[in-house]
Amino acid sequence: MSAKLIKGTEIREEILEEITKEVAEIKEKHGVVPGLVTILVGESPASISYVTLKIKTAHRVGFNEIQDSQSEDISEADLLALIDKYNNDDSINGILVQLPLPKHINEKKVLNAIDPDKDVDGFHPVNVGRLMIGGDEVKFPPCTPFGIQEMIIRAGVETSGAEVVVVGRSNIVGKPIANMMVQKGPGANSTVTIVHTRTKDLAAHCKRADILIVAAGVPDLVKPEWIKPGACVIDVGVNRVGEKISEKTGKKIAILKGDVDFDAAKEIAGYITPVPGGVGPMTITMLMLNTLKSLKFKLGLM
Ligand code: NAD
Repeated sequence: MSAKLIKGTEIREEILEEITKEVAEIKEKHGVVPGLVTILVGESPASISYVTLKIKTAHRVGFNEIQDSQSEDISEADLLALIDKYNNDDSINGILVQLPLPKHINEKKVLNAIDPDKDVDGFHPVNVGRLMIGGDEVKFPPCTPFGIQEMIIRAGVETSGAEVVVVGRSNIVGKPIANMMVQKGPGANSTVTIVHTRTKDLAAHCKRADILIVAAGVPDLVKPEWIKPGACVIDVGVNRVGEKISEKTGKKIAILKGDVDFDAAKEIAGYITPVPGGVGPMTITMLMLNTLKSLKFKLGLM
């Protein structure tokens, strides 16, 4: 293997340690800790497991975490009233609504009701606009792209003047990471191309990339011959391609694969993220960082 592995599992530990330390310092000086509320509607096992992980991580870094579980049949009006309550609660710095919501509730309406200054997921149109403007305007970059940029920075990859190619144009990964990499500032200043399903020659674009960020959701979409030797390859894709028995627990678990043919790509790339254990662990980590930032904005520390 020639590529250096960028391990999200290790970077996560570093960042969570930094957050824990800062939370303790703020508590000592200002007598407060970040408050995060997680609103879960219904009992979908996948949502419960995501929420559980978020709560566990929030506790680990010393946040005040509130879990607000609501029944599947809560009305849209009641959910909006709940969000309004947390918008006006001074002890809450971050509001998370676990998606998906039941069909009778308009998700967009609910997400747009969150106070943009507590929208630590960074999905509110105000925060999308702030991200587009860049610089001091940015409050909460969406967590997966935020994690991707942080991995690139911590791996020591030069981004200034680099050709960045982003595969995928979703609102949660492709478009925001492309926007972040093109801004002025550390971990950015890149020349960015976004490619997608209508792009004429995907391979030709990928071959130019010094940094290739792939978020398509198609296993092994990126072939090794599309990778420029020495490039930094960030594989965001998480694709379930089968099941296996876990050696640890003896239970059935999903076999996960990224969007890049990892085994072949690692012989050509200079840096590469594995799947699992690459981008995946970064999302919740950056959610914690955004929540800490929210309190720091409020205290005038940022
Ligand atoms: P999405 O389906 O919303 O968007 C996928 C994008 O890829 C689309 O813009 C589409 O145009 C493009 N695309 C799909 N097939 C393509 C092809 N053959 N050629 C060129 N472009 C193609 O997906 P998303 O929400 O952006 O997620 C993408 C992947 O990243 C998924 O596997 C998802 O599970 C994963 N993901 C991981 C994390 C994480 O690790 N924390 C977070 C978000 C998404």
